[in-house]
Amino acid sequence: MAVPKRKTSPSKRGMRRSHDSLKVEAFQECSNCGELKRPHHICPACGHYNGREVIAVGA
Ligand SMILES: [Zn+2]
Repeated sequence: MAVPKRKTSPSKRGMRRSHDSLKVEAFQECSNCGELKRPHHICPACGHYNGREVIAVGA
């Protein structure tokens, strides 16, 4: 079985993990109700998308 010759140094381990952090989720204001929503998604607060109501939202 192939095995690494040397233990990974803390520096090299840190370089590898420098890309591991999670990105902040993208969000926009809904043009209808002003609630924060994800781009290209139906607004979960009012059910609008692209200026019209796509799905009915209770209450
Ligand atoms: Zn909305």
